[in-house]
Amino acid sequence: MAELVQRYLDDLVAEYAEVSDGALADYIPELTQVDPSGFGLTLSSSDGFLYESGDARTEFTIQSISKPFTYALALDQVGEEAVDAKIGVEPSGEAFNEISVDDKTKTPKNPMINAGAIASVALVPAAGPDERFAKIRDFYSACAGRPLEFDEDVYRSEKATGSRNRAIAYMLDSFGVLADDPDEVLDVYFRQCSLRVTSADLARMGATLARGGVNPQTGRRVTSTRVVQRTLSVMVTCGMYNAAGDWVSAVGMPAKSGVGGGIVAVVPGRLTLCVWSPALDPQGNSLLGLKALELFAGKTGLSIF
Ligand code: GLU
Repeated sequence: MAELVQRYLDDLVAEYAEVSDGALADYIPELTQVDPSGFGLTLSSSDGFLYESGDARTEFTIQSISKPFTYALALDQVGEEAVDAKIGVEPSGEAFNEISVDDKTKTPKNPMINAGAIASVALVPAAGPDERFAKIRDFYSACAGRPLEFDEDVYRSEKATGSRNRAIAYMLDSFGVLADDPDEVLDVYFRQCSLRVTSADLARMGATLARGGVNPQTGRRVTSTRVVQRTLSVMVTCGMYNAAGDWVSAVGMPAKSGVGGGIVAVVPGRLTLCVWSPALDPQGNSLLGLKALELFAGKTGLSIF
């Protein structure tokens, strides 16, 4: 069985080795420095065994794949009621960086778009930005099973060009969504997006969700099953930018993608697959990542539906 899985991943990588569609994200200038032909795949079984192929150990920035994990941390630390008072769970159908809130509640529609992700950061209790970032980094590292490093260049590049996120943070502040200074909250958000991961790290982080909050490699309980249940539900409906509907019908797994080119897809109780390929489609999803995951779901019949 192990050999079959490995061969399958190697075949997927070989099949896409020559494909060069899509484009690197360039609105964060530093992201254009990445090799667009990188392609890595990691599958984690529910007991934490990893199958890897291609550039599975190449580091890239986590970007939006950070969002479900900070949301989970906020739920874990302050509880559902406090989180729900500030962030909804409805798909927005809008671009990830839309400057918008829900018409009625004046809170972000969900935690997987930037507005909701910035609100999630502010919900993590801390005495200041450094402590808040340390908590976030520790939480991701506990899910990944190793201490994650931070990419200073990508962070500075995003901070220097992040007017749109600044507009979102100030809008949230004006609606009373952020309990702290918007610039400080945003700085932590930029830092969390600049944490460096490999597809193997993300497979382990996803596997921690697949196992209901226990990292299968370290055996450590990182959060509760209730927190994981809520996080995975929001990933199903809102995790794939404004292509969430297509994703659910074609692949049918809770997932999250990021403009660094990663996509992590979780089959609760069974496995996690992470694909990294930095060339993106117009929605901001990794083009080869989508193709590989569609093929995988079609072949294995692992849609949760
Ligand atoms: N740091 C990026 C931003 O806020 C993350 C976007 C993404 O990966 O979707 O624009």
